[in-house]
Amino acid sequence: MSQQRQDIYETAPDALAEWFSAAGEPAYRLQQLLEWLYAKFAASFDEMTNLPTALRERLATEFTMGGLRVVDRQVSTDGETEKLLFECADGERIESVLMHGRPHATFCISSQAGCKLGCTFCATGAMGFARNLTAGEILAQVAALARQTGAMGNVVFMGMGEPLLNLDSVIPALEALTDERRFALGARRITVSTAGITAGIQRLAASGTRPCLALSLNSPFESQRSELMPINRRYPLAEVLDACAEYGERTGRRLLLEYVMLGNTNTSTPAARAVRDIARRLGAAVNLIPLNPVEGCGHQPPRHDEVERFRKLLEERAVTVTQRYRRGRDILAACGQLRGRHSRGGHTS
Ligand code: SAH
Ligand code: SF4
Repeated sequence: MSQQRQDIYETAPDALAEWFSAAGEPAYRLQQLLEWLYAKFAASFDEMTNLPTALRERLATEFTMGGLRVVDRQVSTDGETEKLLFECADGERIESVLMHGRPHATFCISSQAGCKLGCTFCATGAMGFARNLTAGEILAQVAALARQTGAMGNVVFMGMGEPLLNLDSVIPALEALTDERRFALGARRITVSTAGITAGIQRLAASGTRPCLALSLNSPFESQRSELMPINRRYPLAEVLDACAEYGERTGRRLLLEYVMLGNTNTSTPAARAVRDIARRLGAAVNLIPLNPVEGCGHQPPRHDEVERFRKLLEERAVTVTQRYRRGRDILAACGQLRGRHSRGGHTS
């Protein structure tokens, strides 16, 4: 017997089929299990009531199911955004955000407990780094959010952590998400967001999983970007942009540039023009995200007219601009506000 239980979400259906046949279980039992996991998004083996008790018990002794426990759930006042706080088996706390929407909800999930990269405007960066999440922990967040809505949503790796510094878990998670027999989500409906890890972008491209790629640009200028995002010193923007262009060519996916707008900092006319050139070169859309307040970060949100002027300068040259709603701010569930704590505001249920 292995000391460590295998995680069921990390186990491909073919491997489960072997386990079932070795256990002397008929094949239809596997179908029932897969339905519980990936159609009904069960939270435990206990719930799988059409499986014999002995089988459920045996599954529970041999497999984990992500090991996450929901410890808090907050709903924004408009009811559109929910934040789930989970405790991992070892006590680490992580958060995921569910944004209701049509035709699909969006599931914003974490890839690490904390983050090493320390971007100056981000609450996750300020809390430091605890550890990488396992693929099972990443997938259990998706299952928990799908259970809330009763259906799969689009998945964005924009919660806590830098997904491209945890590709050993993120790539298997992407494989499970796109597997027809598991989450069966089209790769186009998944977005991996990165602060710009050149080697990671290349490895993701080579993995064959082909999710959409979002780059957190945040400044088009090397020196300013290095100040805001220290990782830029290690992976300068110029080479990150080359890697993004190559990712787009290799996968055929359209790229997204995310731009957190910091009042009087990265919103100048030269910055807008430089962002426009980058977007045109990459054929990328730009998502403008007015800074969500993070206590003590020293940055200000942009004024309304700063955002509008910046947006016009991009649109003048036919760059597609989307503006992210500040959804979930009252429950600290908006971008960059996740820090794995119970938070005030909103209502808890
Ligand atoms: N580490 C990855 C993914 C998680 S961060 C990355 O940096 O891309 C997800 C997004 O939230 C990034 O685009 C980041 O720039 C943005 N963000 C971080 N802090 C923010 C804040 N205070 N307000 C608005 N957006 C923020
Ligand atoms: Fe980490 Fe992304 Fe936050 Fe930067 S913005 S500290 S990379 S989570």
